[in-house]
Amino acid sequence: MSRKPRKPRRSREDMTTRSQVNRDMNPATFTLRRKVISIIFEAKNLLREQNVEMDRVDIRITDSKEHQTLGVARMNDRIMWIPADSITNLTGLELRHVVFHELCHALFGTKHDELCMLMSRVLRKTTRKDQNNAFLTNAIIR
Ligand SMILES: [Zn+2]
Repeated sequence: MSRKPRKPRRSREDMTTRSQVNRDMNPATFTLRRKVISIIFEAKNLLREQNVEMDRVDIRITDSKEHQTLGVARMNDRIMWIPADSITNLTGLELRHVVFHELCHALFGTKHDELCMLMSRVLRKTTRKDQNNAFLTNAIIR
């Protein structure tokens, strides 16, 4: 998922995880990762309310070579890369949006959909409720 582009945008499809350099796991990185994990627990709890057990997802905290990149995930492969800048610069609600978006890719193989508030390529303004509804929809229709 990306920021609104200033120049012609590169889609996620021509972006690889080579644009992401994993940070070493030191205390500062753990602190950043904990913020992502707490959002993942919210997603896990949403699914648990539906009697669905969510798979474990690996999280790498990165330095992104492409500053507009907010998060990357590998389809159906339960791994996501979140740039440290996303964690420090986005609002809590925006970061939650990015993590829920990447979770849909990583867990359910959800593709981009410009008609979906959560799954459009570019970060949109959403509420917690929008995020929850879109996440649950993607979890159930996969
Ligand atoms: Zn995406």
